[in-house]
Amino acid sequence: MKVSEKTQAISPEFIARVRHKIATNSVQHFIGGEFVPGVQGELFESLDPSNNQVLARAYKGHAEDVDKAARAARAAFEKWKLNAKARKKYLLKIAEVLEKHGDELAVMECLDAGQALRIVRAQVARAAENFSFYAEYAERAMDGRSYPVDGEWLNYSIRVPVGVCGIITPWNAPMMLSTWRIAPALAFGNTVVLKPAEWSPLTAWKLAEIMQEADLPPGVFNVVQGFGEEAGDAVVRHPDIPLIAFTGETTTGSLITRNSAEHLKRLSLELGGKSPAIIFEDADLEQALDATVFQIYSFNGERCTANSRALVQEGIFEEFVRRVAERAARVKVGHPLEPDTEVGPLIHPEHLERVLGYVEIGKQESQHIFGGERVGSEGNYVRPGLFVAENHHRIAQEEIFGPILTVIPFKDEADALQKANDSRYGLASYVWTRDVSRAHRMALHLEAGMTWINSHNVRHLPTPFGGVKMSGTHREGGEHSLEFYTELKHIAVPLTEHPIPKFGK
Ligand code: NDP
Repeated sequence: MKVSEKTQAISPEFIARVRHKIATNSVQHFIGGEFVPGVQGELFESLDPSNNQVLARAYKGHAEDVDKAARAARAAFEKWKLNAKARKKYLLKIAEVLEKHGDELAVMECLDAGQALRIVRAQVARAAENFSFYAEYAERAMDGRSYPVDGEWLNYSIRVPVGVCGIITPWNAPMMLSTWRIAPALAFGNTVVLKPAEWSPLTAWKLAEIMQEADLPPGVFNVVQGFGEEAGDAVVRHPDIPLIAFTGETTTGSLITRNSAEHLKRLSLELGGKSPAIIFEDADLEQALDATVFQIYSFNGERCTANSRALVQEGIFEEFVRRVAERAARVKVGHPLEPDTEVGPLIHPEHLERVLGYVEIGKQESQHIFGGERVGSEGNYVRPGLFVAENHHRIAQEEIFGPILTVIPFKDEADALQKANDSRYGLASYVWTRDVSRAHRMALHLEAGMTWINSHNVRHLPTPFGGVKMSGTHREGGEHSLEFYTELKHIAVPLTEHPIPKFGK
């Protein structure tokens, strides 16, 4: 995902048109190729995080809605799974239509999720890329192997799609995180039931319009809006949905694991993080500073792979803290649709309370350096915050999911490694040093699913994405998505007459 330094503004007239559409329509489910209200007709409200006024009303899905969606997806699967060439064509078309509606998606995501326009524009581009990448990739990837035995047997393997995929997404980056799963699921021949987060339902609604415009066959992609404990739970427990791709909190991931056990579902869980950036004295300090500041404050700090713990070697510790504080003070906090905004409002007043609660905890047990206070009295704006802490402090151990950086000193490599690994999470890690051997040693021993060396988080779609420990259970991306969204089947055929035991003859 490439975030530009400058982003083009969207005209007030266009924004007003999108707002009007949101205000004058109820967000419906999308089932069997049609927009439909919920079976029970109940609505819920989604707030605009910049002022906490009602932004949208969406139908609240229940088990009956999920059942309808699962049946539609199951019916569509029979045809969709057979035609790989058509799938490629549809996915490329989706990418094209998605780009065409990029500004509308961007406005919706800014208003709904509170993410800054410059970030959202990069997410729109990534969402389109998810479809175009897997369109090409899947065509080549769904091959198998042969295992000939002594000229007498031919065994071979093929990959087939799993069936209906349940995709459950969080509120922080809904469009990017849903398309990252929807695209490979569809590309490898599955059909989808998506349950977006209740705090940011809008771009899933638009995505359904895009699927319609791309003429996707009815039932291939379905959306059920609503709450996790009802609609989400119904997806998790539905017998016709054999696979669940979930992104969200670690506790929800555990619950989903338990609730899906009856049907032995295939699960991919992308969960919380408390990822360390480890900065050695010999690092390129300018780059390390740029990356660390960007990685914690971009996405409003609501980023699973944020380097929320900076472990900094003692010799550069004071300078690093001073310079992060200077940068944090200059980060532009503002309305998400302002092109120069770097940090927008947090998603919801409940989340604001949670983040401010951690700031209070930090003030009691750690050293408060800068920020962390609410900005203004309207909306959920928080000034980027900075603390110096010890690794066992709560703000160094628990996921805050807001723009709050915790900096921790370390002495040497062993100390850095011990502190980095002293965490229940293991999603990402970042190592900053000019010593090549040390960088690779660290990467080898860090308990994290992903390590970036002298780099911020630059993701390439073929690479394995996922966490260890309490950060997740699987890998997706490229061939890893192929493995997750397909079943490997073995087929055996004798080439000569082979002896068969003759019981009961
Ligand atoms: P939640 O776990 O609260 O919710 C995620 C999704 O699960 C939502 O759609 C939610 O619905 C739904 N859900 C909640 N309960 C259930 C249930 N019992 N059964 C089925 N579905 C359920 O996460 P957040 O939305 O709060 O997102 C923030 C979290 O996501 C952070 O921990 C963050 O680290 C993590 N995350 C991880 C990423 C990764 O790749 N590792 C990437 C981005 C975020 P509802 O909205 O109604 O609650």
